[in-house]
Amino acid sequence: TGDSQPAGASPPPPAKLPKGMVLGKDGKPCRACNEKATFSAWASQAKSLKPPLKAGAVPAAAAAAAGAAAMATPPTDCPPDKDELGRSTWTLLHSIAATYPVSPTPNEQSDIKAFMGLFAKLYPCWFCAEDFQRYMKKETVRAASRDEFGNWLCNAHNEVNKKLGKPIFDCNLWEERWRTGWKD
Ligand code: FAD
Repeated sequence: TGDSQPAGASPPPPAKLPKGMVLGKDGKPCRACNEKATFSAWASQAKSLKPPLKAGAVPAAAAAAAGAAAMATPPTDCPPDKDELGRSTWTLLHSIAATYPVSPTPNEQSDIKAFMGLFAKLYPCWFCAEDFQRYMKKETVRAASRDEFGNWLCNAHNEVNKKLGKPIFDCNLWEERWRTGWKD
């Protein structure tokens, strides 16, 4: 049949979801919506519950050794978890603000507004995206100048910082952080 389940055996119990785990819109555990530790806890449990594909295909000792090696040195090129995704995204957004024109044309202003609107719809962590869309309804994008957009974005980022109990960033410093580098 091609089924990996031996005839007559009952299916393995489903992996128990770690406390606080957020599911994706497809009802499956979502890497981009969870911290790495939460997702890894679920993934290693799910892996340990999986029956081997074919009995004897991989000697048990070799499989155990490979598993232990993988645990000791997890690969560095995995898909991003919620926090990695967040850091990279803020880097991109603030860098866009840093190169946004000092005096943008009407077209440039409408481009950045359209970009932010689509960004907020497409952001891979769905509950982050929904909160951000709500924020953008309340605080519509301001982008009449680099300074205005940089500050708008800094305040938007601070709103997320506040929600997560992180320190509030001083928006007078956004350009030093993201464009010029720190003054001596
Ligand atoms: P980050 O918050 O990622 O910040 C990166 C760097 O930006 C900091 O080191 C600092 O130097 C600088 N910085 C910090 N604040 C500001 C600011 N206000 N202005 C300019 N620079 C600043 N995570 C959740 O758990 N729940 C959410 O609902 C959620 N929503 C998000 C929505 C969006 C649109 C994005 C992009 C991310 C969201 N995240 C959310 C992820 C979260 O914001 C962080 O990215 C993540 O927790 C990692 O945080 P961090 O401490 O490494 O620093």
